[in-house]
Amino acid sequence: MLAQLEDAVKYLKRKELLSILKIQTTVLKALEDFMVSRGFIQLMPIITSRFTDPLGPDPGSSVVALPKIKYYDEELVLTQSMILHKQLSLLTGADKIFIMSPNVRLEDKARRTTGRHLFEFTQMDFEIAYGTMKDVMSLTEDMLCEVISRVLKERGEELELLGRKLEIPPRPFKVYTTHELEEEYGKNWEILASLENKYPFWVLCFKREFYDREDPENPGHYRNYDLIYPEGFGEGLSGGEREWEYDKIIARIERDGLDPSRYREYLYIAKRGLLIPSAGAGIGVERLVRFLVGAKHIGDVQPFRRVPGEPVFL
Ligand code: AMP
Ligand code: MG
Repeated sequence: MLAQLEDAVKYLKRKELLSILKIQTTVLKALEDFMVSRGFIQLMPIITSRFTDPLGPDPGSSVVALPKIKYYDEELVLTQSMILHKQLSLLTGADKIFIMSPNVRLEDKARRTTGRHLFEFTQMDFEIAYGTMKDVMSLTEDMLCEVISRVLKERGEELELLGRKLEIPPRPFKVYTTHELEEEYGKNWEILASLENKYPFWVLCFKREFYDREDPENPGHYRNYDLIYPEGFGEGLSGGEREWEYDKIIARIERDGLDPSRYREYLYIAKRGLLIPSAGAGIGVERLVRFLVGAKHIGDVQPFRRVPGEPVFL
């Protein structure tokens, strides 16, 4: 999109960008206010660690490499998501936590034109000790409606400049399963179903990473969920109830063909029986802002674009 450094300067000066950043300010404040009002404790993010989210198998993921840095004798990875640390953070005794968590995901450059992929973004990641999928879904619905209501109240001028009409969606949101949607729309259901819906909706039951809980009553089914934005904007949040028992976790790691030694420290704690059952989710901030402002490409909400396959100027 940007051909040279001069374009990057022009891009920073667009009046639309300033309106988007003002809306983003309201969104961030509304998210934090909402979580704190519901009793969540805010943690600071980590961006280096011994282990991070494997991001697979997840049909939504396409990372080409795990980002690593060397620091003295230690090789550390950059955070792809804080999921495993969210589980560990519940050992503090905090029963509800959230983090504004920057993620680096080296997405395939073929994702340049999807309109919804960045290789660096921030998610608001949260986890509830002893929570259920129901708890997370109802909390998320309240959160999204509260954020939209704040944006409507505080940023009418900016929405008008951007030509964006927003509406508070009716609750409860519609719920589908991946199986239903795949049968109706085929493999590309995310965008096709998103285009056909006027309001955000839920999709349940994804076969994905080892930490998402398999339904003990219905093996091969998963107690996890995505929130999909309407109008073709696609996925906005992913989450699930979590596995906490060592035997189940190790069996899933092996099933996924992952190297258990990558998760040595996490598995050590799991084996000691210290993980707490929980449920949570992560909502991508840039995807949320893109949906709220109606931007064509997610890169358009970032002053310093981080779009896979696009050169980085600033
Ligand atoms: P995940 O659990 O991997 O689905 O990530 C949680 C949320 O982060 C997603 O639902 C998106 O809103 C956001 N997200 C994930 N990957 C990307 C990406 N490459 N670019 C922008 N946002 C992303
Ligand atoms: Mg996802």
